[in-house]
Amino acid sequence: MVRGKRLISGPAVKTAAGRVLNRFDVQLVRRSELTVFGSHNTPKKYWNEFSQTIENLSENYRFLDPNELTEYLGQPDDFREGPYAMLSFDDGFANNYAVAEHLADRGIRAVFFVSTEFVNQHDSFGFYKRNILRNLPPQELRGLPENEFESLTPNQVAAIGDMGHTIGSHTVNHADIGEISADDLEFELLRSREKIKEWTGRQPRYFASTFDSRGLTVQAASQIRAVYDHHFSTLDLSNRHYGGHQVFRTNLEFYWSPEMRSYATRARTPEHLRWWAMNRSYRQRFHLG
Ligand SMILES: [Zn+2]
Repeated sequence: MVRGKRLISGPAVKTAAGRVLNRFDVQLVRRSELTVFGSHNTPKKYWNEFSQTIENLSENYRFLDPNELTEYLGQPDDFREGPYAMLSFDDGFANNYAVAEHLADRGIRAVFFVSTEFVNQHDSFGFYKRNILRNLPPQELRGLPENEFESLTPNQVAAIGDMGHTIGSHTVNHADIGEISADDLEFELLRSREKIKEWTGRQPRYFASTFDSRGLTVQAASQIRAVYDHHFSTLDLSNRHYGGHQVFRTNLEFYWSPEMRSYATRARTPEHLRWWAMNRSYRQRFHLG
C-alpha cells in the first residue's frame, strides 16, 4: 500500500475538534449534536418561509428544551435521541411575538435575547437604526414597514416568558461588548439582568453576544461568565466538542433564500460546509448581530 494512505471505508469527516471520524462515528456525532440557531427578526412578509423552516427542522431534529441546556453541555454523550436543535432570537423585535406564539403552539421552546433599552423605549425604530443596524439592511429587509423593526414591549417580553420560552440578556444598549470598557460592560450585564427580572419575575441565566465580538478580551469573557451561566456567541462550532459555558450558534434567518435556509437547517456534510464557506462574505456583510 502507499505509505500513509488511509484505509477507512466510509467518507472521512474532520470535526471542529480536528478528530478524523469514519462514517460510523459521524452517525454518532449527529445523534448527540446540538445545533443552536441564531435569528433576528421575522417580518410578516416571510411568515411562510418561517413556518416552512420550522416544519423542516421538526422533521430533522428533536428540539432541546432551553432548560435542559446546562445538562446537555455538561454531558452531551448522555443525549442520544437527536440530532438536537434549539432556536434563539436576538434583539427583541416586535415580530418575534407571533414567532413565540407559533412555536409555543407546536410545543417548541426557544430563547429570546433582548436588549433591554430597545424594549424599554418608545422610539425603538430610532434605537434600531442607531444601535443595532450597522450596515445597510440585507436586501430582503429593504422597503419593509418601520414596525417590522420596532421592539417588543416589556409586557410582551413577560408574556413570551409565560408561554414557556426563556428570556435572555442581549445587553442594555446593544453595545458592542468587544469594544466597551470593563465598567461599561458590567453595567450592560447587570442592568439588563435586573430589567428582565423586573419584567418576567425570573432572573435570566443566558447572555448573547452583540455583533461578532471579535475584540472580546479574556477579561470581558470572564465578566460575562461571572454573571451568566451560558454565553451564546456568534461563532459556529460544535457544541458537542466544546461544551460548557460557551454556546456556539449557526446563523439562520427566515428571510434567506431556500438554499441558504436548507443548508443551515440540515445535518452537516462536507458539501454543506464547502457551500457555507463560499457564502461567508454574504453573511459577514449583512450580519446584524
Ligand atoms: Zn443583536
